[in-house]
Amino acid sequence: MHRYPDSPVFYRNLAREFPLAVRGEGCWIEDETGKRYLDAVGGAFVACIGHGVREIGDAMAQQAGRIAYVSGAAFTNEGVEALAAKLVARTPGMDRAYILGSGSEATEAALKLARQHWVERDQPTKHRVIALKPAYHGNTMLALSASARETYRAFWPEWLTDVQRIAAPYSYRCGCDGAADCPSCSGDALEAAILREGAARVAAFIAEPIGGSSTGASVPRDGYLRRIREICDRHEVLLIADEVLCGAGRTGTWTASESFGVVPDIMTLGKGISGGYAPVSAVLARDAIIEPLARGTGALVHAQTYSHHAVTCAAAVAALDYVDKHDLIARCRNVGVTFHERLQALRDLPGVGDVRGRGLLAGVEFVADTVTRAPFPRSLKFAERFVRNAQQAGLIVWPNVGHADGTNGDLAMLAPAFIISDSEIDLVVERFTTAMTRTMADLHASAPAT
Ligand code: PLP
Repeated sequence: MHRYPDSPVFYRNLAREFPLAVRGEGCWIEDETGKRYLDAVGGAFVACIGHGVREIGDAMAQQAGRIAYVSGAAFTNEGVEALAAKLVARTPGMDRAYILGSGSEATEAALKLARQHWVERDQPTKHRVIALKPAYHGNTMLALSASARETYRAFWPEWLTDVQRIAAPYSYRCGCDGAADCPSCSGDALEAAILREGAARVAAFIAEPIGGSSTGASVPRDGYLRRIREICDRHEVLLIADEVLCGAGRTGTWTASESFGVVPDIMTLGKGISGGYAPVSAVLARDAIIEPLARGTGALVHAQTYSHHAVTCAAAVAALDYVDKHDLIARCRNVGVTFHERLQALRDLPGVGDVRGRGLLAGVEFVADTVTRAPFPRSLKFAERFVRNAQQAGLIVWPNVGHADGTNGDLAMLAPAFIISDSEIDLVVERFTTAMTRTMADLHASAPAT
């Protein structure tokens, strides 16, 4: 039995039983009983080239056979050289890539780089960080400090550092109805926050160019990111684009930033860059950001044993080669159009308030009242119930909670592999509908009689 306490594994959930996944192919995962699941979210926005691509494993084996590990303090290696060259070549404006293992590590390193940049430029008062709300940048303490994700923060308030928050450009919830002067959707809120803080104290603004799970794939209005760039430039604040979720082709261009014509100062990537075949993330930066370190202390103070790892980099290189060989980012963009057209059918389901996103990234927001947009009370655990029912129906999706007001709010996220077929998209809609019908029926069955 794969559940606590019957197994030595310290599971991510101690209250449920886990099916044992034994193989995967394309968009499909099979468990030990032979049950097949349609993976509509690449696990966690990760498996973008599909499961079971042999050549990625072959590339990792070849690198491990030559040399698996050298310390990044003593050597460089073929894997990291090849990966950095590939990332920099395809990311407009970025000159260098620092390779790590997770999105959280990349956020930590990006924020440290921003701070160290100012200290090395003799501007040590610039240490404050501004971030959005809702937002998520990772689960380590500095990344979590920048994340407005109350459920994850609840146990460690004393350990988290103070980050200034401004409202995210989340049009379904801010209620501005497209008004030009909406502070959160226009970018004005950032300027006000910098002025409140004093530009001489602000090191960086960190944001996802297209919302991930925190705002359910909310796409900001055209011009938002350009205005953010202009405000950051005017006040000498570094712009960090967190593309851990929305980057690596997920929204139909290599990065979401480039689709808005914006070059950030620092960018983070993760999740999709290795297609899930190895844990790989990256901090990319312009030379202008790194030069003060090169002229000063000589290193980013972020030593990690497994940074710049030869085998994980080889996996990412092979995954990116696969993306290029099969033109998968163009495919993501084109199939994304069909995907969003077909997902619109979900709007007719009771309990669905909005369906949005771009490319092969979508968020479905659940509400108790579609007119007032009132969320379900958190006590109903709607998103959790929905995801359980979806898994039972053979569909893997990702839940998010709390975005409506910090506590309430339920979302299901979809982010299938870029190779998903039209008939698989139809199956996503069909199984989503089944899970939704079951979840609404569960709610009625558990509602107290009136
Ligand atoms: N940044 C964003 C936008 C994310 O969505 C996530 C994870 O979901 C992270 C950072 C943290 O990445 P990881 O879970 O790999 O540490």
